[in-house]
Amino acid sequence: MADNDFVGGGFSTTAIHAGWDPDGRTGAVNVPIYASSTFAQDGVGGMRDGFEYARTGNPTRRVLEANLAAIESGRYGRGFASGMAATDAMLRAALRPGDHIVIPDDAYGGTYRLIDKVFTQWGITYSVAPVIDPEAVAAAMTPQTKLVWVETPTNPLLNVGDIEALAAVAHAGDAKLVVDNTFATPYLQQPLRQGADVVLHSTTKYLGGHSDVVGGAIITDDEQLDADIAFLQNGAGAVPGPFDAYLTMRGVKTLAVRMERHCDNAEKIVEFLGTHPGVEKVLYPGLADHPGHEAAARQMRRFGGMLSVQLAGGRDAALDFCARTKIFTLAESLGGIESLIEHPGAMTHASTAGSQLEVPDNLVRLSVGIEDAEDLLEDVRQALA
Ligand SMILES: *Cc1c(COP(=O)(O)O)cnc(C)c1O
Repeated sequence: MADNDFVGGGFSTTAIHAGWDPDGRTGAVNVPIYASSTFAQDGVGGMRDGFEYARTGNPTRRVLEANLAAIESGRYGRGFASGMAATDAMLRAALRPGDHIVIPDDAYGGTYRLIDKVFTQWGITYSVAPVIDPEAVAAAMTPQTKLVWVETPTNPLLNVGDIEALAAVAHAGDAKLVVDNTFATPYLQQPLRQGADVVLHSTTKYLGGHSDVVGGAIITDDEQLDADIAFLQNGAGAVPGPFDAYLTMRGVKTLAVRMERHCDNAEKIVEFLGTHPGVEKVLYPGLADHPGHEAAARQMRRFGGMLSVQLAGGRDAALDFCARTKIFTLAESLGGIESLIEHPGAMTHASTAGSQLEVPDNLVRLSVGIEDAEDLLEDVRQALA
């Protein structure tokens, strides 16, 4: 991917500037946190700048939404109170009773739970398919399929889907392709440019980047879909507050430099783990023998800061590893500046137990932070000793 082909210049220029010019009145270089739930009108219906009530729209949130659209090279962006709120709105915008959706066979546990436990109650059916195999995704589609939902790389198995091929499969069946781009971030991968119809984010992760805010977003070029999403923002109300919007923007400004460091550190840890006798398998799209490596190299700038390992000693060894790291904090979530470690089977993906999406019990997931690589390597070394 060329460095300078983003809307409005290079990626970081866009990330730092899109959506806001210094304030005309005060010169403030940052957008204020507009802590206002309502907006004065000049006569009935006379809104200034389009704002009437902050569930419908808030100036801080509007800047975030413009910024997120720009960094995904998309036309429209909408912010939500969490990644799951964005997922919920997307599903409700696109699906009606009787419709069908295809999801990854290793989808984010919360996405699977929402569809399996909630949307099925409203007459939605789903099938699972591996994102690495577009033919299997095509085979999982039915005449009622309205959405093909993928993550790439997936959480926690780091499988890679070829976005162009998956878009072709979805479109051949008159369905839309949604890409949950949380793991890759728009710095590493821009799905709309590769044929996806919708990009979804948990901005809680890399976009916020500091483990201090929960949020979500939907970005699309489809005007009607955006209007439907905006209707749900206002109609259902799962919107982010202005302080959350501000924190997310503060994170986005440094996304490129953080991602470079996340990738540098992850590559070093992958190299170390690859030769460790306690490790059965390292899952990282940057490895030449990873089944998704070719597609990842085509559609991603680098291979990201997330990796998983399967330990030779099974579940006990996996739990031990998680218990013994000192810098890698045992916690759910990912994408922050600090390194985190977790056992998906018992933590983030516990809701998939007994389903087709169940994850191996010797699996450990690492979110590699931006601390000093030597310290992270030493931590992993001592925890596996
Ligand atoms: C965390 C996550 C979500 C859910 O986002 P929240 O902000 O936690 O609601 C969705 N998809 C992926 C890939 C995630 O990692």
